[in-house]
Parts: sequence; C-alpha cells; structure tokens
Amino acid sequence: MRLILVGPPGAGKGTQAVHLAAHFNIPHISTGDIFRANIKGGTELGKLAASYSDKGQLVPDSVTNEMVKDRLNQSDLENGFLLDGYPRNILQAEVLRAILAEKETPLDAVLELSLEDSVIVERLSGRRTCKDCQASFHILFEKPAVEGKCDKCGGDLYQRTDDGVDVIQSRLTVYADQTKPIIAFYRAEGLLITTPAEGDVSEITERAISALNAAVS
Ligand code: AMP
Repeated sequence: MRLILVGPPGAGKGTQAVHLAAHFNIPHISTGDIFRANIKGGTELGKLAASYSDKGQLVPDSVTNEMVKDRLNQSDLENGFLLDGYPRNILQAEVLRAILAEKETPLDAVLELSLEDSVIVERLSGRRTCKDCQASFHILFEKPAVEGKCDKCGGDLYQRTDDGVDVIQSRLTVYADQTKPIIAFYRAEGLLITTPAEGDVSEITERAISALNAAVS
C-alpha cells in the first residue's frame, strides 16, 4: 500500500497516519517529524527548517524533495509507505511522481482528511505535542491524564511554535494557496479518496480503512 495523507493543518493527519501505518504495516514518513527531529538535534537542516516552519511557511522544495528522495530510497519500503505532510504543492507532487515512476512503484491512493476552517483553529491552538514521541493531545478535547505529561511515554508536552494563533493563520493561507491544488491534481489521476476528519479518532480511522480497502481492491 503506497499512500499519501493530505489535509489542512489540524485535520489529524499525524494521528491518523500512526493508526493507518500500523494497520497496513507500512512505515509512516512525516516530513514535519523529520524537520522537527532535526530542529531538536540542532542540525544545519534543522536550523534551516526552523527559519521557515516558525513562520508557518514551507521549507524550500529543493531541500524537502531531496530529503524525501533519500527516505524513499531506504530499504524498509517493500510493503509500501504512508507519506504524511508531503507533497505540499504541485511541484512536490510532480517530483514525487517522477521518483516513484523511476522505481516503478506508483501510488495506490491519496487520502484527504477534510475539515472546516473554524474547527481547524480551535484544534490547533489547543494542541499540545510530546517532546519525546510526538504524540498529540488537546487541552480541551484530548487531555492527558497528568497535565503537561505524555500518556504514552511520560515526556513533557509543549505547544509547537507553529501552533501559535498568528502562525496558524499563515499555515492556513499556505494550505489554501499551495497545498489545496494537489487535491485536484490527484483527483484527476483517479487516486483521491476524501474522508471527513470529524468525530472520534477511531471512527475516522475505521472510515479511512474501509474507503482505502474499497479503493484498492
Ligand atoms: P507538519 O508537521 O506536517 O505540519 O509540518 C510542520 C512544518 O514543517 C511545516 O509548516 C513546514 O514548515 C515544514 N514542512 C513539512 N512538510 C513539508 C513539505 N512537504 N514541504 C515544505 N515544508 C514542509
């Protein structure tokens, strides 16, 4: 199963990606997580990525495409992969198509998680993320058992710099201007499946799995 997950910031891509990757037994490749790991590690790539992500902007395509190409050339992808947060614009979608064509491993499906703008801001501004394992919580809707601590690994929770209210607005603009066009791109290729991203996490996962199984069978 070679899959892409697309949707506005706050649609729950990261959360759903973890469940879907486990269900289909495929690696979860999140460009946002790779950038955050580099930011945390203080690498040159991390410093560069932070200068864009702190403002809600996309990291330049040349950097991101090269990073994804390297990742897709690793040897753990025999079962497929789930790409989360990539591609984020038409150029990236075209580069991805070329990378996969060269490997003769085309995409099976593109899952769009759809969500209203008003819900997005509420979800993102209350989101708290684990510094150690990246799990997400919400100060109102998905509270951790102990305030400020991750239920899964006990790590400290923090608010991502790009989840601040000002940055959310830029991320929404970037999504509407640059990322949304890839939905039409993949619809035209007959690969798009759209699932509403509201309701329980497990309900959304089940809906997504049924839609994906139906699409690839
Ligand atoms: P995410 O966790 O997917 O919301 O990504 C966090 C930030 O990392 C984004 O706001 C961008 O600055 C950067 N980023 C992640 N994926 C990409 C991508 N495909 N292209 C460019 N920048 C990206």
